[in-house]
Amino acid sequence: MPADAKTSLWRPYTQMRNAAPPLEAVRTSGSRIVLADGRELIDGIASWWTAVHGYNHPHIRAAVAAQLDAMPHVMFGGLTHAPAERLASRLAALAPGDLDHVFFTDSGSVAVEVALKMAAQMWLNRGVAGRSRFLAFRGGYHGDTMGAMSVCDPEEGMHRRFGAYLPAQLFCDLPHDDATAESLDHALAAHGDSLAAIIVEPLVQGAGGMVMHAPETLARVAQAAERHGLPLIVDEIFTGFGRTGTLFACEQAGIVPDILCLSKALTGGTMALAATIARRPVFEAFLSDDPAAALMHGPTFMANPLACAAANASLDLFETEPRLDQARAIEIRLREGLSGLRGLAGIADIRVLGAIGVVQFERAPDLAALKARLVEQGVWVRPFGDIVYLTPALTIAPDDLDRLCEAVDHAVRATSGAGARG
Ligand SMILES: *Cc1c(COP(=O)(O)O)cnc(C)c1O
Repeated sequence: MPADAKTSLWRPYTQMRNAAPPLEAVRTSGSRIVLADGRELIDGIASWWTAVHGYNHPHIRAAVAAQLDAMPHVMFGGLTHAPAERLASRLAALAPGDLDHVFFTDSGSVAVEVALKMAAQMWLNRGVAGRSRFLAFRGGYHGDTMGAMSVCDPEEGMHRRFGAYLPAQLFCDLPHDDATAESLDHALAAHGDSLAAIIVEPLVQGAGGMVMHAPETLARVAQAAERHGLPLIVDEIFTGFGRTGTLFACEQAGIVPDILCLSKALTGGTMALAATIARRPVFEAFLSDDPAAALMHGPTFMANPLACAAANASLDLFETEPRLDQARAIEIRLREGLSGLRGLAGIADIRVLGAIGVVQFERAPDLAALKARLVEQGVWVRPFGDIVYLTPALTIAPDDLDRLCEAVDHAVRATSGAGARG
């Protein structure tokens, strides 16, 4: 798009007065994004962590095309359809334990809203009043809608200004060690009766800075929830579908959440769809002769058949292609490919888990310059805050992954604050 072109678009998280104009994408395939000017970029972040099978996978395209002919959409109130029935039963079978009851929505934030609402209404349906708050963890991110914002890190820049509009929740540090585990327990003992649930991102706090924690930390959260009789909401919107090396991150801690949120990679990066999945006891709290005890939610495009067809095709690919092995192979290659930056002056940390590789600066770098340098090297990577990270498609070719690591290495070294002796 020409730099002086007038646009009617209002862009995400973007200062419209002076932000660099966006690049115009015209085509995608595999791990490549083709721009209007003919340049081709290797995608290092799989379109906000969605395109796990790469772009334009023929199996997903065929499934969506067939569904487009049969029935692109039909309302979900009073009607059902095979793509949704099939997807729900497959997700219930894949999710750990008795996470068997699937509620579809159309974005991650709304999946979180539904999870919060499920937990709150579960208590009301059981005749317990006053449990109107949630316990969330510092550094967390759960979405951009009002309820989801209220459980995001309260100090973090993106949502800090909305404090006055949001319900006040209870925040704790993740229980990394005995001291933090004790203070979580104290908070739960002091405020437990006012809480409806605990919400956590398992193993990686994504949009909060790709901060990782050990499976034992997640297990401690689950144990604390159980000790205090609180449902645990696990937000796997980022981590779900192989990103951390297992299909779901919570498997690595051996826990079964009461409510599980999925979205991002659910349709293999092709369409908007999300799922909130509840364990049987949560679902059963909604069974009643009272119509008002039903779950009071129902998005217009709930369980869109095209999106369900795409998600079913994506699950086929997890069954027929070695995605989890690919994620683990990416982990090894990322460790190797980013290791040259370890110990460099200005670099605070290098960390890798599954198909997630993170370089953290000691101080936030000049992001605009860093982004421009990455594009110059033919890669699409979006650093934010004090990190630059890679979350490629699980199908990325080894050569492309090496080029991504090299581009990050070069761009980081050329960025002020890093690259000095060390
Ligand atoms: C992206 C994300 C969300 C929000 O999903 P949207 O589809 O952008 O609304 C919520 N939780 C986590 C962990 C996410 O990564």
